[in-house]
Amino acid sequence: MDTAPAPPDLPSFKGERETDVAIIGGGYTGLSAALHLAEQGTDTVLLEAEYIGFGGAGRNVGLVNAGLWLMPDDVVKIIGPKYGERLIEELGNSPDLVFDLIEKHGIKCEATRKGTLHCAHSPGGFKALKQRESQWKKRKAPVRLLSKEDAEPKIGSSAFHGALLDLRAGTVQPLAYAHGLAHAAKKAGADLFVKSPVIKVEQKNKKWEITTLDGKVTAKAVIQACQGYAGHGFKENMKTLIPFNFFQFATPPLPEKIRKTILPEGQGAWDTNMILSSYRLDAAGRLLVGSVGSVDRFGHGLHKKWAKRTINKVFPQINDIRMEYGWFGTIAMTVNHVPRFHVFGENNISVTSYNGRGIGPGTLFGKLMAQYLLNDSHDNIPLPASKQKNVITRRLRGFVYEAGARAYHLIQKRI
Ligand SMILES: Cc1cc2nc3c(=O)[nH]c(=O)nc-3n(C[C@H](O)[C@H](O)[C@H](O)COP(=O)(O)OP(=O)(O)OC[C@H]3O[C@@H](n4cnc5c(N)ncnc54)[C@H](O)[C@@H]3O)c2cc1C
Repeated sequence: MDTAPAPPDLPSFKGERETDVAIIGGGYTGLSAALHLAEQGTDTVLLEAEYIGFGGAGRNVGLVNAGLWLMPDDVVKIIGPKYGERLIEELGNSPDLVFDLIEKHGIKCEATRKGTLHCAHSPGGFKALKQRESQWKKRKAPVRLLSKEDAEPKIGSSAFHGALLDLRAGTVQPLAYAHGLAHAAKKAGADLFVKSPVIKVEQKNKKWEITTLDGKVTAKAVIQACQGYAGHGFKENMKTLIPFNFFQFATPPLPEKIRKTILPEGQGAWDTNMILSSYRLDAAGRLLVGSVGSVDRFGHGLHKKWAKRTINKVFPQINDIRMEYGWFGTIAMTVNHVPRFHVFGENNISVTSYNGRGIGPGTLFGKLMAQYLLNDSHDNIPLPASKQKNVITRRLRGFVYEAGARAYHLIQKRI
């Protein structure tokens, strides 16, 4: 929040209003849908419970990845070739959409498109990267496996066993990108409201009535874009996904001499470890280090100590390690790690659970859901429609992730 340009000045929703499409949630998905609908002259109202980017959009690492966390062949195995290959291709190209929008709308969000580095934390991790490389190369993606020696100067660290460079990807200041999308959507004619939680959605006379704390919107269509931050009228949706917390710590801006030695070409990075770590330098030269867990009252001290030890191990050139900021957010996961497409009723839809990959996918699915409503066709969505199903073990799984991350961060080799 301290390094993002301001969002547009937005009111909260009061009173009654008719519209073509009501969008619930002001993250990438909702904002991209609002922008693409308004650009087509569709009357659009976006209702955000808190503020623009309150959810994952304002808390993430800023890696604009191409594709899902799963390997491409696994996606095809899980949802079949019809949807699988299209999903892989469209998500693989989703950074194009993000960086095109940034350019078109002049969004100031520290955008850098030099690729990302998926770093091997072990020889096994390097083997997995080799597999990933061959699966992407089969699909003509511009990825390149780097040996330990070739990866070292790009990462600025000798701690890894190699890396996969994906030239389709890049990085952004995530909240700044969300603010920029909000400015663009507003300029295109969408009406955006903050501090306007939706508490009920009901179908009446072939239209949808969306009730907020202070008013009611009647719409021909609804896009639900709440992800892992589903609250108020959508709390029930949380039962259908697995919450997965991820934290980040940021150092103060590093001295120029040291900054130049870390990710010097401007890539963002993360590793192959199951409890993965992420690394990005922001425009001011702060190092952002992230991993699994929440930095709440109990986890804060433990994860902060881990972050310092990790920096010490991965980037020993930083001899004075201090932390200026720390925060965390909730990622919406699914059991099979593939996002879900829900149709709640006629013209009431949602694509959810990007499993930690939401900058490209959120922007893309916002656009595709807009096209779905404009063309009245499922062909626009490269996912099968699925029923909302509660994950009975979600609390247990969430607890296991959190406890596992804490235990791992506590015992991981101390330097
Ligand atoms: C810590 C962290 C790190 C991540 N790192 C990356 C990364 O590096 N790269 C990447 O691509 N992805 C990453 N992700 C995932 C990415 O941030 C999300 O997938 C993305 O933000 C999803 O966008 P969205 O618009 O669908 O949902 P969100 O950004 O979560 O927005 C949902 C919005 O809905 C609103 N809302 C909820 N209920 C209501 C209601 N009843 N009424 C009105 N509004 C409501 C919320 O307030 C929220 O603002 C990360 C996520 C986290 C948490």
